[in-house]
Amino acid sequence: MSIIVQKFGGTSVASPEKIKAVAEKVAKFASNGNKIVVVVSAMSGETNKLIKLAEKMMRSPEPREMDSIVSTGEQVTSGLTALALINLGIKAKSYAGHQVKILTNKSHTKARIENIDSKLIKKDLNNGYVVVVAGFQGSDIEGNITTLGRGGSDTTAVALAAALKAEECQIYTDVDGIYTTDPRMVPEAKKLDSITFEEMLEMASLGSKVLQTRAVEFAGKYKVKLRVLSSFHTSGEGTIITFEDKKNMEEPIVSGIAFIKDEAELSLLGIPDMPGIAYQILGPVAEANIDVDMIIQNIGTDGLTDFTFTVHQNDMDKTLNILNKKVKQHVKAREINSDNKIAKLSIVGVGMRSNVGVASKMFRTLAEEGINISTISTSEIKISVILEEKSLKKAVTSLHKAFNLADA
Ligand code: ADP
Ligand code: ASP
Ligand code: MG
Repeated sequence: MSIIVQKFGGTSVASPEKIKAVAEKVAKFASNGNKIVVVVSAMSGETNKLIKLAEKMMRSPEPREMDSIVSTGEQVTSGLTALALINLGIKAKSYAGHQVKILTNKSHTKARIENIDSKLIKKDLNNGYVVVVAGFQGSDIEGNITTLGRGGSDTTAVALAAALKAEECQIYTDVDGIYTTDPRMVPEAKKLDSITFEEMLEMASLGSKVLQTRAVEFAGKYKVKLRVLSSFHTSGEGTIITFEDKKNMEEPIVSGIAFIKDEAELSLLGIPDMPGIAYQILGPVAEANIDVDMIIQNIGTDGLTDFTFTVHQNDMDKTLNILNKKVKQHVKAREINSDNKIAKLSIVGVGMRSNVGVASKMFRTLAEEGINISTISTSEIKISVILEEKSLKKAVTSLHKAFNLADA
């Protein structure tokens, strides 16, 4: 009998009726003789509601307490899902993350899973139970409740699948697979039957929130068979994440377009062009635990240069404060600018490795649309640009067309 892990996201468990529908889906799999572990998210919108509630108590809530609060959303849905299964005559038990010993590090609100003690789950599975685990959470070595970052239930599911050596990890969501780009932005986006692990990792980390990046990393590390499919349609194979090397296969140059709207750009103008300057700017930012994404330094003229980097929009004010208080004087910046009305767009594809001219086609397409690019960064299988948020839709749509993704 094979073990299957099935994860249902927020929209899939958004109401009692939807939870009952999830239970029916799970019951069908269980009655086919599979051992099922279900991972559930909080009801759609619930995590945001809980965060807002915490912020009513203090402006920047203590991360430890924040985790106790936001983890409750998933506890509710896990209990409700178990009840819905029991009501269908299926033996089911729900557990919070710490009960099945999902051990994490101590980084509250963005903890990483270090170990899972799967004995309890295995015992229940062997006794014929469907085990329902609350996603998004674990506990540290001292028993403090931790959460895994937004979208973290995906990671709970993949980590459990790895620990249990499951046959497959199925991520049920509100779309029927991975598309060439977010189908909510571009209606012509096409569903992919498969995507390579490398491409999925780039797509996720560059903003396609259909899977949390950590979940893809886990799948890669432990070779978990990972599939994304629809909660609402009964048919369809979804999209499978493959590990094969597609080097010799016929494949498109660009496989997908990812974007992210919640970044902010900060620039220091007229700083001295000398060794150590990047460290003097980014050192204090790193000390404040702020993640920096893209970094660009211009070629200097007359001994002066400009330095630009991006952070998450939520960190913009904090970063600006650090730059003004701790950095500006020190590095003698003429001016510091910030902009949170930007977006990052990336084209991704393993086919780029063996194709020249991808970048020029991208830049030509954007130029023809009159879209200005402020920052560019490239790697072997992706090209990212920063542009104004208001041109994002036009940019994604025109690139989707230029790279023929609708016929992928
Ligand atoms: P869940 O609540 O099930 O975890 P999410 O909202 O986190 O669901 O992720 C699903 C959403 O991801 C889709 O509704 C879609 O808008 C978005 N998305 C972004 N990029 C893609 C993509 N390339 N393919 C499919 N969905 C995508
Ligand atoms: N409920 C959490 C969130 O909204 C985790 C998840 O849904 O995966 O981010
Ligand atoms: Mg999600």
